[in-house]
Amino acid sequence: MIYLKTDEEVELLREANLLIGRTLAELAKIIKPGVTTKQLDKVAEEFIRDNGAEPTFKGFPNPYGGPFPASICTSVNEQVVHGIPNDVPLQDGDIVSIDCGTRLNGFCGDSCYTFPVGEISPEVKNLLKTTKEALYKGIEQAVVGHRLGDISYAVQQHCEAQGYGVVREFVGHGVGHEMHEDPQVPNYGRRGNGILLKSGLCIAIEPMITMGTKDIYMQEDRWGIVTRDKKPAAHYEHSLCVRKGKADILSSFDEIEKVLADKFI
Ligand code: MG
Ligand code: MG
Repeated sequence: MIYLKTDEEVELLREANLLIGRTLAELAKIIKPGVTTKQLDKVAEEFIRDNGAEPTFKGFPNPYGGPFPASICTSVNEQVVHGIPNDVPLQDGDIVSIDCGTRLNGFCGDSCYTFPVGEISPEVKNLLKTTKEALYKGIEQAVVGHRLGDISYAVQQHCEAQGYGVVREFVGHGVGHEMHEDPQVPNYGRRGNGILLKSGLCIAIEPMITMGTKDIYMQEDRWGIVTRDKKPAAHYEHSLCVRKGKADILSSFDEIEKVLADKFI
């Protein structure tokens, strides 16, 4: 069931989402070669709890195995999504997608950013740039009177034009009291298809884009999703509210990109 949010609910959703931007900015300060994703997880969990919120990912149920053991998903290089933080130090030239969820005042924030670690290759830089551009191309379509397929088409078209793969098995979604609400928001689709977008519809748009083919598999931990050809993947996500003329983006990359300064892509 799809439910449209009131203005008050949108403001609560914004608070939960802005906390993610601030959490990811804390991580941006310490992401460098040598740091482990487990260290990042610890910093994120403390920051989220210190700000009166809960990390929604921790204990998130899994139909294929045990609950998610950490507060953020850290997906490195060929990992697309749902990477479990571990003790492997990040290396110069890696990328790490950090997906973060918060629950604050009964509402869930959901946002993700892909960080470069040290110096990354021009090819990987272009993957990151294109994926982030695709997110904003999708957001441009998230306005009253358009259809859900307009968002999906915009994301898919932008990435496939660069020869990149668009992951099919994981999609964006509605956001609200629950982290995953209706409707599903695929990163592929047809213009003019799908539900009509109304003011107050709150969704997360989250392109998961691969440098090679779109084929993926699940790791033995039953969480991590990896590209079959082992080529890198990028993932950016904003939560937003559909409005007339222009979507209201509820999460923010501003704090992150302030920290990354001239390094952000
Ligand atoms: Mg997310
Ligand atoms: Mg999401």
